[in-house]
Amino acid sequence: MLDLGRTFLQSVERNPGALAVVDGEQRLTYAQWYDRIQRVAEGLATLGLGRGDHLMIVLQNRIEMATLHWACQFLGVIATPLNWRAKPDEVDYCATDSQAKAVVVEPVSAQAVAGSTVAARLTRIAVGGLEGTVQYEQLLEHAPAAPILAACGEDVSLMLYTSGTTGKPKGVPRRHRAERAAALGHVAQNLYRRGERTLGVMPLYHTMGVRSLLAMALVDGAFVCVPKFDCAAAFRSIEAERVTCLYLVPTLYHDMLAWREKNGADIASVRKLGFAGAPMQDGLLKRLDETFRPELFVNHYGSSEVFTFAYDQDATRKAGSAGRAGINTRIRVVALDAERPDQLVAPGEEGQIICELAGDEAFEAYWNRPDADAKSIRQGWYFTGDTGYVDRDGDLFVSGRVDDMIISGGENISPVDIESVLSLHPAVDEVAVAGLADERWGQRVVAFVKTRVGIDAEELNEYVKHSDLLNFKRPREYVFVREIPKSPVGKILRRKLVAGEYEALEQQGHTQ
Ligand code: ATP
Repeated sequence: MLDLGRTFLQSVERNPGALAVVDGEQRLTYAQWYDRIQRVAEGLATLGLGRGDHLMIVLQNRIEMATLHWACQFLGVIATPLNWRAKPDEVDYCATDSQAKAVVVEPVSAQAVAGSTVAARLTRIAVGGLEGTVQYEQLLEHAPAAPILAACGEDVSLMLYTSGTTGKPKGVPRRHRAERAAALGHVAQNLYRRGERTLGVMPLYHTMGVRSLLAMALVDGAFVCVPKFDCAAAFRSIEAERVTCLYLVPTLYHDMLAWREKNGADIASVRKLGFAGAPMQDGLLKRLDETFRPELFVNHYGSSEVFTFAYDQDATRKAGSAGRAGINTRIRVVALDAERPDQLVAPGEEGQIICELAGDEAFEAYWNRPDADAKSIRQGWYFTGDTGYVDRDGDLFVSGRVDDMIISGGENISPVDIESVLSLHPAVDEVAVAGLADERWGQRVVAFVKTRVGIDAEELNEYVKHSDLLNFKRPREYVFVREIPKSPVGKILRRKLVAGEYEALEQQGHTQ
């Protein structure tokens, strides 16, 4: 399998004049970007970075972030991006864990890095006029004497930290060949064509952002940087650059729809929608389909560990279905408490989703975390920690995380089904369901609702009663909240709801 430097070089040679990256006024073709990437790679080499070293990058989705990512690929340096909103102790943790050799900062991340005792001792590269050991612009000063192309397919390309929705961040090292296979899967599954233009708004410290970046190089497409999530900026970029495909978490779609309803925006250039990262509630899926009328709407199930678990090329065909296994793996559903990959459940029965670790994209191990490896890797299969089922047609439905499963009166209840039903009510803007401790039931189903217009619990209860939802799944309580708590990439944080970390509105309601 090829390394990623060569993959990029192929695009440069195939289509040097094609638009490769945009950031505000900056627009570079593949040939121009290659020149800049090579200079940055040379600059990093003069700072002593080489094959196998970690470069911690704590930047927003600006052109420098994308350029550094690619420079690492040519040099064999392991790109180790981190959330620019990380706190000093998180930066400390990741800098120590990865043994990073240098760190790249900008004004928004400078404080966190300076506050981290470990990262503050590293060589600092500053973007955006910060006082730093080295200015990013200095990296651009020297063109390499000969093209830098130092990595091979087996080298580690990237290390992402999982967001820690379920605990301490875990480093996921990924080889060049795995990244290339994942990017190929991304292209195939989203049916990307030559010259696509993608909105580069999913953070480049998250698997979805990185995959969009790499996929563009395979189709000579353009990555349109949007530094951070901001609906106005996102729509401006879509309009100005005629963006053709969006690949976002459901929350960002939700916010963009709400913004567009108020402000309007031209979305005619967008032909493909893809989502991943969290289940999409039926109400949102329907509204997106009606608004964008996309040629293709893909439900793409994956993670930092193995990117392409499954996909459905028409997410509207069967709402909630993630379809069949992706092109790089096999998937199965086993009993929730299964120890082995052969403990399959019957079709339609809920269990844990596992995926086979074979082939180029296969996840191998977490970084320095034998405890996590032992928990998730068994007999050549990766236990995702996600729940779901396969229906009689063989289509996979992802219903949430094993840890989020509600056990009420001895029944296993997935929050996702209930959320989907409630999301279809016109008064419901956002909804999250969690299990709260209950003397009688063990856990009771509680729906946390952000409404568009006034509505009470009784009305919602009536609505659910008349839906297909089985009676035992019906929420026993509704809590009306100002905001649903979410992670930096927009995933619902159910543990915060369980811990009472939300702002409730006056209105409350128990149901019969
Ligand atoms: P963790 O939740 O373990 O802290 P994370 O949130 O950083 O990690 P990611 O790699 O960002 O992990 O996301 C992977 C998870 O997102 C999957 O395991 C699954 O729970 C959820 N997910 C991804 N795609 C989909 C999808 N299409 N439908 C439903 N859930 C999805």
